[in-house]
Amino acid sequence: MIMFSSMKGRSVLVTGGSKGIGKGIAAAFAAEGAQVVITGRDRQAGESTASELAAAGGKARYIQADVANPADCAQMVAATIEGNGGLDVLCCNAGVFPSVSLAEMTPGQLEEVLGINLKGTVFAVQAALDALSRSGRGRVVVTSSITGPVTGYAGWAHYGASKAGQLGFIRSAALELAPAGVTINAVMPGNIITEGLTDLGEDYEQTMAASIPLKRLGSVADIASAVLFFASEQAGYITGQTLIIDGGQTIPESLEAMV
Ligand code: NAP
Repeated sequence: MIMFSSMKGRSVLVTGGSKGIGKGIAAAFAAEGAQVVITGRDRQAGESTASELAAAGGKARYIQADVANPADCAQMVAATIEGNGGLDVLCCNAGVFPSVSLAEMTPGQLEEVLGINLKGTVFAVQAALDALSRSGRGRVVVTSSITGPVTGYAGWAHYGASKAGQLGFIRSAALELAPAGVTINAVMPGNIITEGLTDLGEDYEQTMAASIPLKRLGSVADIASAVLFFASEQAGYITGQTLIIDGGQTIPESLEAMV
């Protein structure tokens, strides 16, 4: 049996780690003994999550940073290095998904989504390049989506473009990071239950679950497991790749195709 090597002591930075999937990723690394830094714009939410992770026995700290701002990205990496002695794993997870039709979308709304989801991913990786190179086993794991790269959803054209753009980015970035032994891969979640989704109500969840072959929405832990895998020593020969985690949602040709 292959045992995965420990994350103990590894320095991990999770952007958008204060809520949802990012919080789940941070909790999984913390439970494995990593030193975790989470970021987000809302200080209160970030500090409360960091305290929650620490209360569960993890090493976790919050740093306020907006990934759409390159100076914030530089500062979050510097603070991580200062506190943890380096940076081994960067999880580019921060993202927003406001819905608006193409007909009504303003340049400002387009810029917000591309600025955070796509440019924010690039800025975070740029800021972390040197530190990840020094790690000797640097890892980047990006949270993309099925929406954009594989599927479409009316109202989320800008979001889909940002998520597909992240995948275009990782393939070329993989080539530039490879000489330093740094890998970059992406997880592509389907419908994951987060604080935001539970607000949409049980009916929404049930309708969504019916269109998923495994008949349930995903959990943040489902995504975190895949992120931990990409960050592991054993995944060191995988780079520029993507993994869909969607309970089979993108597989059936139609509802008729499912049993
Ligand atoms: P969420 O619960 O709304 O959490 C988003 C996190 O990102 C929060 O911590 C938020 O903190 C942070 N964030 C947003 N804008 C930021 C910015 N400019 N700078 C730094 N942090 C920022 O969302 P989620 O559902 O967990 O989504 C996380 C990622 O998964 C996103 O990239 C999303 O596209 C992707 N995803 C989600 C699903 C799903 O079903 N939930 C499916 C596919 C993909 P602040 O607001 O305090 O900044």
